[in-house]
Amino acid sequence: MGDQLEELRQQLEKQTLINKELQNHNKDLEKRLQEKEKLLQELQSHYHDLEFPTQKNSYEGEPEVRMSRAAVMAPEPIPEDLEITQTRVKKTFGETSLIVKAIGKNDFLSRLDDEQTAMMVDLLVSVDFKPGKDVIEEGTEGDRMYIVADGDLHVTQAGRNLRTLTSGDVFGELAILYNCKRTATVKASTAVRLWCMERQTYRTIMTDKSKKKREQVMGFLKTARTLKDLNDVQLSKIIDSMEEMKFQNNDVIVKEGSEGNTFYIILKGKVQVTKKVNGQQKQIRTMSTGEHFGELALIREILRTATCTAIGPVTCFSIDKEVFEETIPIEHLELHNDFNMEQTDAPERTSSSSSLTLKDLVPVLYLEGRYQGQHVTLGVGGFGRVELVTTIHHGKYFATKRVSKKLIVAKRQQEHVLFEKRILKAIQSDFIVRLHGAFKDSRYIYMVMEFCSGGEIWTKLKEVGRFDEPVAVFCTACVVEAYSYLHKKGIMYRDLKPENLMLDSKGYVKVVDFGFAKELVRGAKTYSFCGTPEYMAPEIIQNQGHDFAADFWSLGVLVYELLVGSPPFSSSEPQKIYAKILDGVLKFPPYMSEAAKSLISKLCRPRPGQRLGNTKNGIKDVRNHRWFSSMNWHKLRVGQVEAPTVKLIRKGPCYINFDRFPYEQPQAEEEFSDWDRDF
Ligand code: ATP
Ligand code: MG
Repeated sequence: MGDQLEELRQQLEKQTLINKELQNHNKDLEKRLQEKEKLLQELQSHYHDLEFPTQKNSYEGEPEVRMSRAAVMAPEPIPEDLEITQTRVKKTFGETSLIVKAIGKNDFLSRLDDEQTAMMVDLLVSVDFKPGKDVIEEGTEGDRMYIVADGDLHVTQAGRNLRTLTSGDVFGELAILYNCKRTATVKASTAVRLWCMERQTYRTIMTDKSKKKREQVMGFLKTARTLKDLNDVQLSKIIDSMEEMKFQNNDVIVKEGSEGNTFYIILKGKVQVTKKVNGQQKQIRTMSTGEHFGELALIREILRTATCTAIGPVTCFSIDKEVFEETIPIEHLELHNDFNMEQTDAPERTSSSSSLTLKDLVPVLYLEGRYQGQHVTLGVGGFGRVELVTTIHHGKYFATKRVSKKLIVAKRQQEHVLFEKRILKAIQSDFIVRLHGAFKDSRYIYMVMEFCSGGEIWTKLKEVGRFDEPVAVFCTACVVEAYSYLHKKGIMYRDLKPENLMLDSKGYVKVVDFGFAKELVRGAKTYSFCGTPEYMAPEIIQNQGHDFAADFWSLGVLVYELLVGSPPFSSSEPQKIYAKILDGVLKFPPYMSEAAKSLISKLCRPRPGQRLGNTKNGIKDVRNHRWFSSMNWHKLRVGQVEAPTVKLIRKGPCYINFDRFPYEQPQAEEEFSDWDRDF
């Protein structure tokens, strides 16, 4: 008996040893597999880049396919009242013309208007570099852009020579928009003189200018008799719809006797008013900055009673009757009764959230495959990772977002995280992910959310290439419901994209990720630069101040991306994306329906005040657009529309609809600054 036991023991030991060895071997293989996969991914994306040009001729101007998840731009908290210490630097004629030419050649800068260009010319300061000195270092964070005045520089990336820069070339220009890592090193090869501009200066000036201009125009509008009954919110809406027009000396702006349908305010210059008296043109008066004409045209069919002619160059702000009618009255801003349906679900949700604690939750593990036995990770975002957990007793699933506190502090996102939690906690909409609990420890903050088991719209879109119309209509309709709920509460979402839309088990779409959401009073604007490049509205890129209208722009981009598989304004280089957005030219593939084209064009109008959703009937106008004619909004709200998206959802283990991620081993460092005391 004893012998047998001893033998068994020895066998067991042997087996354990073998097992260990096998495990090590496995680990090794696993590691190699991971490396191979990474390489494969890189090769695939490389292949795609190479492959892409050949796909271009399927229709003219096909946008580049967006293969990678979009990068996000977190808003930097910039003191709104930052003083500009930098003074204007006088430039010679030659210097000015070099700068203006350089700006004109640049993809992004060439989209600045005349005034912005002039401001740039004024504020650039000169800096000198000795030969051999680095001006920009790859991998570091940039906060300024340069124009070469004199000398040569060379550009390298990972030690590879890329090109030479010389007088009149621009570099580092993205850094004036936001904090981004330099992608190359620029070294002076001779002694160089550069024109340089810092982001803080640029942004403050741009923001300041936009604010001042709005205030000024607001003051002008208040003197128009026809508009006297309108409040500031309404006037602000009008400003959002107005367009700048420039006239040359002697240009006739309105002609006596012609049909009038535009209202003008003079921003700059002088206008002469004349009238025909006994067959003779008679001068009536001269108007200048702040004065307006043609206001009656806004409310009545009229014939112009005088002629207005520009004396010298004139800049006006104008609005057409049709646009005006769309903008005002906005008393009709819709306030419908979303709340009915929320009441029914609320009690259960609150009870489950109040009783939930972090201790009750256990990680769900992968049941098979490469990561078998590891925690299931549902997604990895810019800040956190989202893991699948379950309750010990009830077997309910939740998605827990875990974010390193150290990282939040490093990226200055404290306010956003606190806000995300506060907002999510207060939200009760079936089109927005529910928050069931929020916790923290010394390393992480945790948000326990409802688990959207159908996976990301992004993943589904990449699987099928593009959605058919019924699927796209359904997904967009869910987003419209989420918007309607949020906007009514005075919250802008600001981060719409397929990556932030999830499917629940029924195939309904839910909005997740409130990291960029912001509360805003109607009529007010916010000036932070944030979002995802492809989805950013032009007024954000230009630092003109934005509001709820920016969400409608991105809704248009979403409809496009769902139907086409890539967004309308895309490129591998962010500055090209921005340039395309500012140009605002939409190109539609031939298979797109007229209704879809019409909706996208109306949502992606450059002037925020003219965008569908932001016009007088508010979001109702979006719902009533013919692209949604098959949608029964009421049924959607009560969950009775059968979701066409169910065909996209796979059956199997609960994580089957998600990409798989290896478990993150290293623990984040501890963080004790106490910013999260209210979390
Ligand atoms: P970002 O970089 O977009 O700011 P983030 O770090 O704020 O990301 P989220 O976007 O909230 O994180 O989540 C990251 C990913 O985790 C999502 O794209 C999604 O794949 C997954 N995810 C988030 N919430 C849920 C949920 N409730 N259910 C299932 N998966 C989720
Ligand atoms: Mg996200």
